[in-house]
Amino acid sequence: MYGQAIDGAPQAGQVSKGLGIDLRSDTVTRPTPGMLAAMSIASTGDDVFADDPSVNQLQDRLADELGFEAGLFMPTGTMSNLCALMAHCERGDEYLVGQLAHTYKYEGGGAAVLGSIQPQPLEQEADGSIAIERIAAAIKADDPHFARTRLLALENTFGGQVMPQDYIHKASAFAREKGLGVHLDGARLYNAAVAQGLQAREIARHFDTVSVCLSKGLGAPAGSVLMGSSKLLAKAHRVRKMLGGGMRQAGVLAAAGSYALDHHVAGLADDHRRADAIAQALRAIPGLEVKVATNMVWVYPGSDAHVLDRLVAFLSAHGVVLLNRRPLRLVTHLDLSEEQCVVVCGLIETFGASSSSMAT
Ligand SMILES: *Cc1c(COP(=O)(O)O)cnc(C)c1O
Repeated sequence: MYGQAIDGAPQAGQVSKGLGIDLRSDTVTRPTPGMLAAMSIASTGDDVFADDPSVNQLQDRLADELGFEAGLFMPTGTMSNLCALMAHCERGDEYLVGQLAHTYKYEGGGAAVLGSIQPQPLEQEADGSIAIERIAAAIKADDPHFARTRLLALENTFGGQVMPQDYIHKASAFAREKGLGVHLDGARLYNAAVAQGLQAREIARHFDTVSVCLSKGLGAPAGSVLMGSSKLLAKAHRVRKMLGGGMRQAGVLAAAGSYALDHHVAGLADDHRRADAIAQALRAIPGLEVKVATNMVWVYPGSDAHVLDRLVAFLSAHGVVLLNRRPLRLVTHLDLSEEQCVVVCGLIETFGASSSSMAT
């Protein structure tokens, strides 16, 4: 079972920042000179009056690219998901969601707290999917005892893993047949698309709403876009304002997002290749269990639990910034160059050589 991890939460034992190699998350990327240049020349307006041209351009372009009527620029993925949930569900409604999914587990309980939406968390398979039978069994009858089941929310990628297309097709067809809406937390939708050699719209077309983060692997400093029908997005727009997410000259940020979509999608394949290389180096060390999916490497304590602790201490001492959690998650991204990846793999090999000589 793959773990999940929160991006950005402070953590005891986390080593200090400031060194070149940071594998905590793909959120740590800083805007490139080209991106900063695009931001500095962005035309702006007041997006609360819907007249920021850079925001409108990003929203229209992404909605078009993913096959939706409308898009809405959001400060964060968390707000984007919450606006979607609140667009689909009214007070006293319920959404079905994986019990390890970000919208359920890592967003502060926002759906319940702010939306009065009851989450119905469901056990997930190792790949992040929820068995159709489990979804079927969780849909409540129309009965005043029950919350009204309105929505199925999926996540792709999940812990870096790509959700199989045939599963998405089946789950969304089933949910729609039962009258439910279908939302995708596609924070890393483009990682899923690039990993499968698909256009992102081939994944997105199975959903009524899709949220995409620009601030993860795509490298923008902030911003997500929620897409859906004009009707759902009109509701989401109202919720966004209510949550305090109506930004003014947001075109500066939207320009970074547009730049990321123009320049950083293809490079996700490099992130995936580098994650594979790091996983391969780690697999040479006995006493660890290693899994890799898109841009995430997960390392579990194997036969010897101390090996992983010593590895983390070794990498940290050599300037690699890690989140000291178990399982250990290493994330590749735009700010990890090929040379730095080689350095990381070299450090892992050095550690492996020293720990095998210790064993003998
Ligand atoms: C990061 C993330 C989000 C939320 O994005 P923020 O911009 O950090 O609020 C939502 N879902 C998933 C799967 C994520 O990884």
